[in-house]
Amino acid sequence: MRPGTRLLLFFLTLLTGCQRTEPAATTYAVPADVEPYIQSFRDELKKRNNPLAIDNLIVTFGTSQQSEDVCGTCLAQAGQTPRITINPDDFCWAKASTNERECLVFHELGHCLLGRAHQSSRFSNHAYTSLMNPDDVAVYATCRYPIGDDVCDKRSRRAYYIDELFDSTTPAPAWSK
Ligand SMILES: [Zn+2]
Repeated sequence: MRPGTRLLLFFLTLLTGCQRTEPAATTYAVPADVEPYIQSFRDELKKRNNPLAIDNLIVTFGTSQQSEDVCGTCLAQAGQTPRITINPDDFCWAKASTNERECLVFHELGHCLLGRAHQSSRFSNHAYTSLMNPDDVAVYATCRYPIGDDVCDKRSRRAYYIDELFDSTTPAPAWSK
């Protein structure tokens, strides 16, 4: 073993040693406006006997360039508290309905806490198969501006989309045909 190699190994050991002993920081900071949606996510976890605790999460209002999502961002890095940034503008939040807000928060929690990636597929009726689609998260809300023959009040689809959020193998619902 050359001295250079030995030195490199020493530093590698030092680095991995540091990572192992450093405790993961736990922080919970969620704005009061967002907390009710985190609570309903907890309720959905409980219904499914999912033991995931939401005690390490930072949610802030602001804009971020780090994501293709317009209204929200999830930044989840190993050993760090997951961070969700929500765009507070009229379109994304200020004038959004309760259902639209829940769709957005649940989509970002899908990224940050459930490790879900984007899913763009559609059913034969053109509805998205998942709340994790990157284009329109308001999959179980009432539309603001009815367009053509599209179903406007989609609130009855909530049960399916939340089932699918927690289990991507959830079968297609009757309304998707
Ligand atoms: Zn997304």
